[in-house]
Amino acid sequence: MGRTIIVSNRLPVKVAKDENGKLRYKSSEGGLATGLGSVYKDGDNIWVGWPGFHFDNEEEEKEAAAKLKLENMKPVALTEEEIELYYEGFSNETLWPTFHYFNQNALYKKSYWQAYEEVNHKFCKEVVEVANPDDTIWVHDYQLLLLPGLIREKLPSVSIGFFLHIPFPSFEVFRLLPWRRQLLDGVLGSDLIGFHTYDDMRHFLSAVSRICFISNQHGQLNKDGRTVEVDSFPMGIDYEKYANSSASPQTLSREVKFRTSLGAQKLMLSIDRLDYSKGIPARLEIFDLFFQKYPEYLGKVSLMMVVVPSRDNVEQYRGLKEEIDLLVGRINGKYGAVNWTPIHYFYRSFPLSDLSAYYRMADVALVTPMRDGMNLVCKEYVASRLDKQGVLILSEMAGASKELSEAIIVNPNDKHQVRDAIKRALEMTEEEQIRHMEIMQASLKKYNIHHWVKLFMDRLHDVFVKQKEMTTKLLDSTAEKTLIESFRKSDKKLLFLDYDGTLAPFNTDPTQAGPDEELHEIIKGLTKNKKNNVVVISGRDRNTLENWLGQHDIEFVAEHGVWIKHKGKAWETSDKLDNSWKDDIRPIMEIYVNKTPGSFIEEKDYSLVWHFRKVETGLGELRSREIISHLKYLAVNMNLQVLEGSMVVEIKNLEVNKGKAAMKWVQEKANDFILAIGDDATDEDTFKALPDQAFTIKVGDIHSAARFSLMEPKQVRNLLKQLI
Ligand code: UDP
Repeated sequence: MGRTIIVSNRLPVKVAKDENGKLRYKSSEGGLATGLGSVYKDGDNIWVGWPGFHFDNEEEEKEAAAKLKLENMKPVALTEEEIELYYEGFSNETLWPTFHYFNQNALYKKSYWQAYEEVNHKFCKEVVEVANPDDTIWVHDYQLLLLPGLIREKLPSVSIGFFLHIPFPSFEVFRLLPWRRQLLDGVLGSDLIGFHTYDDMRHFLSAVSRICFISNQHGQLNKDGRTVEVDSFPMGIDYEKYANSSASPQTLSREVKFRTSLGAQKLMLSIDRLDYSKGIPARLEIFDLFFQKYPEYLGKVSLMMVVVPSRDNVEQYRGLKEEIDLLVGRINGKYGAVNWTPIHYFYRSFPLSDLSAYYRMADVALVTPMRDGMNLVCKEYVASRLDKQGVLILSEMAGASKELSEAIIVNPNDKHQVRDAIKRALEMTEEEQIRHMEIMQASLKKYNIHHWVKLFMDRLHDVFVKQKEMTTKLLDSTAEKTLIESFRKSDKKLLFLDYDGTLAPFNTDPTQAGPDEELHEIIKGLTKNKKNNVVVISGRDRNTLENWLGQHDIEFVAEHGVWIKHKGKAWETSDKLDNSWKDDIRPIMEIYVNKTPGSFIEEKDYSLVWHFRKVETGLGELRSREIISHLKYLAVNMNLQVLEGSMVVEIKNLEVNKGKAAMKWVQEKANDFILAIGDDATDEDTFKALPDQAFTIKVGDIHSAARFSLMEPKQVRNLLKQLI
């Protein structure tokens, strides 16, 4: 059994030097560290990351490495300059603003990017030093987007998971990054990619489709012949920790102390790190609006606002801090009284017992970020409400809003809506508060941090097992040898070869898709041997096939089996097929042509095809899904079949398919060797119909009824050359 290696920018420990120059180690109490604790502390597992300290010399570095090794950790030593450019620079001044939709704050500096690449390589080196091919590696967050791809190059068969803890922006925002392609390629080195929400996942898949031209099916995509799965895994909190802390004697004594100084007034709470994504100034403006509209609350409610210092050496953060200071001063100056302060503002961090006391005391938690990957504070508030009372006002821009639908969900940009939500929260009956709180608590208790870790790790394992089964399908050198030997030994050989995407790369411009010289040579070579019976089996119309390949001594299946041509004979269509359905289906396809510029209908003898290769990227895919579900519904009752091809949707008689056509040869002609190669869904019918001993090969995908797979037409041609 392999080990598990966790990799993140920071280790769950902070190294520092005390006044005597001795290295000290302080463990992190963050949720992720707790959740992954059970993983990395187990057996030989290990956590790789930066220990938050710049070592003065190699001795120190070695000392820390030895000490951390005992705790299953491996430090990555980073210089001050690396932290400045890779972490504070590219991670926090380029990626962070872009991913939080603050792209106007993003800096695109080459020096940042270079450092980001270098540090990702440095992490890769440290990981590869300890990793074995059968290990599982779980990479975390936006500082290490390139790492999965780098590890994949060094350890191709290792299992890699990646989780992004911040939002993934819409394609229109992500595309602004000059290094968008490299970043996506990096992440796609993983086997499983996790996000907090379905929207993040959807944005990622759309970026992959637009930038890397890789489409997906239900979150599954194919990267260089490897299946990559993408899904949402909303991260939970250590529920018991917050519930227990809320009940602890220290917390209770703190609460009594704070309450005594506050008096009987109602309390609202907000807790954030200093960051522009948290919407702190907007929240203060809303608080001002609240008192303007509802002055009866003056003296009766205060806001306790905790802002945890963060990145305040960065210009934008310093400016934000000044803005907050000013706003707080203005509001307190405007409304404050001798016996009442509207805003209790703390620019510092607090230990858990203090936070728990605040959570217990707060009648309302005001969590209104402009954008937040998940937001843990709102979950901690809910877990701390042992009396089941209290109201959560939560921004719809926080990932947590997708789970906590019992909160009062607001758009933080709609200040009047939030202002009125505060009033609603303050006036909510106890009964209603309890009803909502109970539902949220039950959900957070179940979907806690331990559940999240298990869910992700189990899924990563499943993906790995699935891939193992699939990889056995790749036509490796042993399988290729068996195929060639069997081919040589036999006398009557049937070769079913699909055209587009198999013999030739799929070309989006069909007028350019005719065979090249190499392909003519291969077919010539194959047909020279009279023991070979070559059948080109395609969805294309018979005229095109004949024009392109008619000069060769081969046979044809056109339009997926509607037309058949034996050597020296005329085209024939064996089944007299009913075509009356076309009059019902054509008008439906025309609706889609009318509303989708660039799309058109092709009418074949026994099928109708809706083409969308000239339609705006994305819109075509969307419309194709619509048309498929529309047509599939009708097809069931009309004995028709809907086929999804590359940039086409085809509807045809159910009786016609490549499998049935291929079987005519198998049944009518003696044979002792069968090879079938194809790349799309229509070729699956051939693979399924043929006898088990046939060599069936799927091109470009590993999910197939075929026995083997190859990655691209180039490999198909190489294989065929060996049969000449
Ligand atoms: N927190 C803390 N001390 C404080 C204020 C906050 O330990 O004085 C913790 C809080 O309990 C929460 C985390 O900081 O676990 C903030 O996480 P969140 O996801 O809400 O925001 P982030 O800072 O990660 O964007």
